[in-house]
Amino acid sequence: MAKKPEKDSFVTEITPRSEDFSKWYLDVVRKAELADYSPVKGCMVIRPYGFAIWELIQKALDARIKATGHVNAYFPLFIPEGLLTKEAEHVEGFAPQVAYVTHGGGEELEEKLVVRPTSEAIIGVMYAKWIQSWRDLPVLINQWANVVRWEKVTRPFLRTTEFLWQEGHTAHETAEECEAETLKILALYEEMLATELAVPVVPGRKSDSEKFAGALRTYSIEALMGDGRALQAGTSHNLGQNFAKAFDITFQARDKSVQHVWGTSWGMTTRLIGAAIMVHGDDSGLVLPPRIAPYQVVIVPIGKDNWQETVLPFAKQVAGNLAAAGIRVKVDDRDERPGWKFSEWEMRGVPLRLEIGPKDIEKGQVFSARRDTREKAALPLEGLEARVREMLDGIQHNLLTRAITFRDERTQRVGSYQAFKDVMEGRPGFVIAGWCGAADCEAQIKTDTQATIRNMPLNGAAPSGSCVRCDNPAQFEAWFAKAY
Ligand SMILES: [Zn+2]
Repeated sequence: MAKKPEKDSFVTEITPRSEDFSKWYLDVVRKAELADYSPVKGCMVIRPYGFAIWELIQKALDARIKATGHVNAYFPLFIPEGLLTKEAEHVEGFAPQVAYVTHGGGEELEEKLVVRPTSEAIIGVMYAKWIQSWRDLPVLINQWANVVRWEKVTRPFLRTTEFLWQEGHTAHETAEECEAETLKILALYEEMLATELAVPVVPGRKSDSEKFAGALRTYSIEALMGDGRALQAGTSHNLGQNFAKAFDITFQARDKSVQHVWGTSWGMTTRLIGAAIMVHGDDSGLVLPPRIAPYQVVIVPIGKDNWQETVLPFAKQVAGNLAAAGIRVKVDDRDERPGWKFSEWEMRGVPLRLEIGPKDIEKGQVFSARRDTREKAALPLEGLEARVREMLDGIQHNLLTRAITFRDERTQRVGSYQAFKDVMEGRPGFVIAGWCGAADCEAQIKTDTQATIRNMPLNGAAPSGSCVRCDNPAQFEAWFAKAY
């Protein structure tokens, strides 16, 4: 019995979002049982509820990757140190974050092994073996894996030393084809986030200071979180011929000349779960878009005394019908108060709650409560599956619309550096401003305001006027924000 009060109070333990966003986030992650800290510093345990969300994201993304002609494969976790150092910029960029294996089987290794921080190097070696002729191109391979990047400051899902992701690695005949692939994936990522996670993003090109180590050009999708900070949700890199030259990936071209392939790499990670939490959540906890919700509907039986004999079988039958219609549904048959169950499932973000009591059974109806709008309504049992499906679609759509509205309200164009600083000190969000293209100007803006160039949108306006910080003419129209 000692356990009861603790359980009752767990919802009120969530720090209000408006009070301390960062603490709210950690409370939600832990109390909704998405992830937990582990004995390994910087590494999290993804709990079943969080992993179920990841599996749904993975399934939706994997289907899109395959529909665009890519296939999955698997490469080793370890990379001989010598391979990582072949591409100079690449090794310089990743060196501070690399974990090494120095011993194995009780003996010191002759060559240290790197625990992959990303797989360009090991995949490059294999592509050099596999690609001989233009007929072998393009190579369109994706890998689902874990990677390790030693991080000093970590936060569950957003930045952890080990994380899960997919990494695509492709090789092409021409520069044009390579760039087209890079942008095709960026568009795929954008659509995936809008459709599945109800998260709107800004697709664009990264400045040189933020590009992937070893890439020619990096593109990203950037989303705005509930606290006005931006989150880089996915990247797509045009590697040019940099890795092909470092790993000697050549092919005999149609004109019989020997040429280096053109490469891309692209990835999205478990960070997406963090994005969904921070875009949609509220003071009561998680709000999950139906398409990535492990349970789209939870049914709570209401009743006294013998509810387990009367209401529960009926609730299970309703659940069976919903499940048969392809809806992910859970009946909460635990011996707890209904009010307690309501709070728990609200906190865990289940999009739609159905309550069924003896009176509802008599009337041939169920009582519904939406998580996003908290609207409540009686629904007739007749045609319930179609009605629930419609409501779930409505919730998914509403969450995206809400997120777009929020993002648009927090996006503004500024004309002066003072206005720029005022936004970042007051109510941060995206700031659109002209940029001269100079790295030192970009760095100074970061020092002054903590804001960085998130990207230069693909469909942005043509640059006009002068750079927001200096008097030089603007070369780019950039989107700035404080970022995670
Ligand atoms: Zn400037």
